[in-house]
Amino acid sequence: MLSQHIGAICKPVVNKRDHIAAGQLIGNAEAFVSAPVHSPVNGTVKDIALQSHPVLGRAEAIIIESDEDNPPKQPCPDKFSTDFDPSRFLPEQIFDAVRKAGIVGMGGAGFPTSVKIKLNPESPINTIIINGCECEPFITCDYRIMLEWTVQILTGVSLIGRALNCGNIYIAVEDNKPDAVAAFEQAIRKMPSASSMKVVAVKTKYPQGGERQLIKSIINKDVPTGGIPPMINVLVANVATAAAIAEAVLLDNPLTHRVVTVSGGGIKNPGNFYAPIGTSASHLIELAGGLNDNAVKIILGGPMMGFSIADLSTPLTKTGGAITVLTDKDIVKRKETPCIRCGRCVEACPVNLNPTRIAHAVKHNLLDAAQEYYMSACIECGCCSYICPADIELSGFIKTGKILVARQKKLMPK
Ligand code: SF4
Ligand code: SF4
Repeated sequence: MLSQHIGAICKPVVNKRDHIAAGQLIGNAEAFVSAPVHSPVNGTVKDIALQSHPVLGRAEAIIIESDEDNPPKQPCPDKFSTDFDPSRFLPEQIFDAVRKAGIVGMGGAGFPTSVKIKLNPESPINTIIINGCECEPFITCDYRIMLEWTVQILTGVSLIGRALNCGNIYIAVEDNKPDAVAAFEQAIRKMPSASSMKVVAVKTKYPQGGERQLIKSIINKDVPTGGIPPMINVLVANVATAAAIAEAVLLDNPLTHRVVTVSGGGIKNPGNFYAPIGTSASHLIELAGGLNDNAVKIILGGPMMGFSIADLSTPLTKTGGAITVLTDKDIVKRKETPCIRCGRCVEACPVNLNPTRIAHAVKHNLLDAAQEYYMSACIECGCCSYICPADIELSGFIKTGKILVARQKKLMPK
């Protein structure tokens, strides 16, 4: 997909029938807030056309037919060692490598990472929080890499610290993953460049992985409603993003692959897969043994924040950590009834919004009003929909409203 991030959409820089190599740049944009796209495989450009997109419905994509003898890329955690010294790199070199590699927030946000790690002397970052909290059910891709790529992640974290000239670094892991906490603590003891990092076991609860919730849990600060963490001099980055930074800076590898969890009661052999970005949902489901007979709903992402898809050719994107397949037992079909003004959605909202007001504004196409109610601050956690006794799809309306506003601002294709 040419749009896998927040910011300017990439334009194709290859043509139909071109033969391309794995790692080659295929989509680019000049804008500061953007991230280039690279081919994950050796292959031939079959088409440049609209394709099902997990968030946007349909969007432009470069469709590549992989060569038959295409060598699969392997994960490379053994290429990183505990004696790594981040001072070998200047902050500008780290910024350039991350920008060139097309790295975006892989926890789901999709914000271009180069923008986040650009040193800004007027508003310096004084706290970095590395997010290892996977709070949605079924998803374990970050958990696996925390155990198996520990030194690679810490290498990326030390590069983020170097880029931002910040040594106050926390690594947040939920307290139901003591082995991941132990893996980080053990590696940090052996790694001089990570010696000042602190591993924090945070309470396992939903939505602990939201950046605002994490900042509150760890340093007890609030991000202003409608604001972003750098406004309070904090940066939050996901563990997979840190691993990708290490690969980009040390090995010059663009972001072409990621680990994805394929799980849920509707999947025969749930598991984690290291997959080329762009792999279709159908191929990933096939790798996991296929669907059980009672599978009824396929979601890109987790059951709370993901997007359900009908077209199995929808590809994996840089932000897609999971495919979750739910069964008829998981889905309770209910009919929306009028709002009874109970206020439960307001109480449940972790960022103190008024979900019913925003959803009502979106429903009636009052996007300006929805924005005045801080729609953009919604973290799309789904708590409001979950709690609503009237079964109103509040978070669905809010997600739709955000997409409509992004389209108006030309940050997303129509
Ligand atoms: S989805 Fe609902 S509960 Fe969650 S942040 Fe948005 S408005 Fe609040
Ligand atoms: S929880 Fe549902 S019924 Fe209650 S105020 Fe919110 S939208 Fe209305």
